[in-house]
Amino acid sequence: MDSDLTRELTLDGNAMGGLLFEIFGVEMTAAAGSCQGCGAVEAVGALLVHDRGPGTVARCPHCASVLLRVVRRTDALLVDLRGLRWLEVPFSPAAE
Ligand SMILES: [Zn+2]
Repeated sequence: MDSDLTRELTLDGNAMGGLLFEIFGVEMTAAAGSCQGCGAVEAVGALLVHDRGPGTVARCPHCASVLLRVVRRTDALLVDLRGLRWLEVPFSPAAE
C-alpha cells in the first residue's frame, strides 16, 4: 500500500468529484461518509482514489478498506457503496 508506485497511482477524493457529481447531481467532495471497516468519518475529498483499473475505487485513508466503487458501462454507471456505513448527500441550492 505504501510503495512508490502505489502512491504515484493514488489520487485524493477530489479526483472523483466529477464522477460523483454525475451520480448524485451535487458537489460531493466536502460531503462526509463513514467507513464500514473502521468507523472513521471523512470527507469524500480525503479518500484515496485509484482510477487506473476498469473502474474508480475509493479507499478509507485510515484502514484502506474499499468504500465505494464506480464502473462506467456504455449505458450506465454501476455504483457500489457497500463499504460505507453512510454517505452524506447535500441538497443542491436549487433543491431547497
Ligand atoms: Zn476505515
